[in-house]
Amino acid sequence: MLPLAPMMSEIIDRLFNYNLRGWYRYLRLKITHKHVKIGGSCSMCGACCSSIKLQSYGRSFSSKKRFLQLSNEYPELERFQIIDRDYSGNLRFRCQWLKPDHSCQDHEQRLPICHSFPEPEMYFTGAVLPKECSYTFVEENNFSWILKKAQHKLHSKESHQD
Ligand code: SF4
Ligand code: SF4
Repeated sequence: MLPLAPMMSEIIDRLFNYNLRGWYRYLRLKITHKHVKIGGSCSMCGACCSSIKLQSYGRSFSSKKRFLQLSNEYPELERFQIIDRDYSGNLRFRCQWLKPDHSCQDHEQRLPICHSFPEPEMYFTGAVLPKECSYTFVEENNFSWILKKAQHKLHSKESHQD
């Protein structure tokens, strides 16, 4: 059980980041005692580095000015070049560190968002994997819950026999 303060901050984060479909998925997995994990492996297609929706505090960038201001504060953002906007008006970026062979110019220095892509939380936020991506979201049973249930069943059977 999480202490109250971190639990509240986790709930607030979810309220800001999850969309309607994400909440449906989250609650369905809770009820069915499942969780989501990432399946597959990277085929180095480069799609995730060539069309990126960056976010700050859970919000996508729609203002070029705001993004440029932030780039001045955080020079590591300068590698991202604005390419266009999505249908909601949010900016899309291409990383200039992406090499023609789809490898990263400096794999060791890549950002935390690059390290963690794709992460299971994306399943709840409405973010979608590029169609070229060979990773998938996989729903699977929560084995610790299944084990607990089996132990409970065994325990009650033994108590009835006593
Ligand atoms: S830093 Fe490397 S891994 Fe990250 S978006 Fe750019 S090219 Fe891709
Ligand atoms: S889109 Fe998926 S498969 Fe393609 S480079 Fe990114 S992580 Fe790898």
